[in-house]
Amino acid sequence: MQQPSKSALICHAFIFGIFLVTLSAPLISFAQENTLTRQHPIYKTIDDEQNRLHWDYWGVEGPEHWGMLTKEYMACETGGKQSPIDIQMQELSHHQETLEFLYNISELHEINNGHTVQISHKSGCRVDLNKRAYKLRQFHFHEPSEHHIDGKTFPMEMHLVHQDEAGHILVIAVMMEIGSEHPTLRTIWKWLPGQIGKETTVPMKGNLREILPRNTQHYSYSGSLTTPPCSEGVQWIVLTEPIKISEQSVKKFSAIIGHNARPVQPLGNRHIELN
Ligand SMILES: [Zn+2]
Repeated sequence: MQQPSKSALICHAFIFGIFLVTLSAPLISFAQENTLTRQHPIYKTIDDEQNRLHWDYWGVEGPEHWGMLTKEYMACETGGKQSPIDIQMQELSHHQETLEFLYNISELHEINNGHTVQISHKSGCRVDLNKRAYKLRQFHFHEPSEHHIDGKTFPMEMHLVHQDEAGHILVIAVMMEIGSEHPTLRTIWKWLPGQIGKETTVPMKGNLREILPRNTQHYSYSGSLTTPPCSEGVQWIVLTEPIKISEQSVKKFSAIIGHNARPVQPLGNRHIELN
């Protein structure tokens, strides 16, 4: 094969440079806005992947390489309590935790951050876990599901990210199976932002609680964020009852974001509780 000339190489590098700048511009402006509005360092951990080194769900920046991209992401490689996991029935021990959703009606703000569609809530939604209050920070979706239940995956999974006053993170995962979806979920889907960095405001009429199962029975375990930096010390709650989503909605999400599920991680010596 003929070697390309030096000037051709410089030209290609220049064009690639312009391509990168064009691609990252919306991310940079969103990151700057986020830095101004959200100062809490842990809040940044769960919310500002855009400020960090680029990562992806496939190729050389895919999940098996996250821990080697930068030392900030080392936990993705070396951590012993990583998420997601396969929740196997024979691993369960029975407990009685109380979980109460105290959600209300408010408009929602959606952003396509390139890894998922992340939705924030304007007013004070919270959950009480064993009477301890955790505020809802944001929720987002994965396609297919990240957690497996007895080896089974679901078409999608919803993550509701909460935080208590001391900064502890509690994520509630809800499996999504194919069926007739709740009208409120349909409204959220109608406003999914198609382009990276794009934001939309959903004029909500319903309460977010309505789209979640009435039954609060759940699995719980100690894990991590499922995206870089894969920080541990995250309390996970996975509701046993799935919610419904239409096939069309799964396809729409997939067309916008693509597959965005981290593979399951070893359970190690952790315990999973059924509450
Ligand atoms: Zn997630």
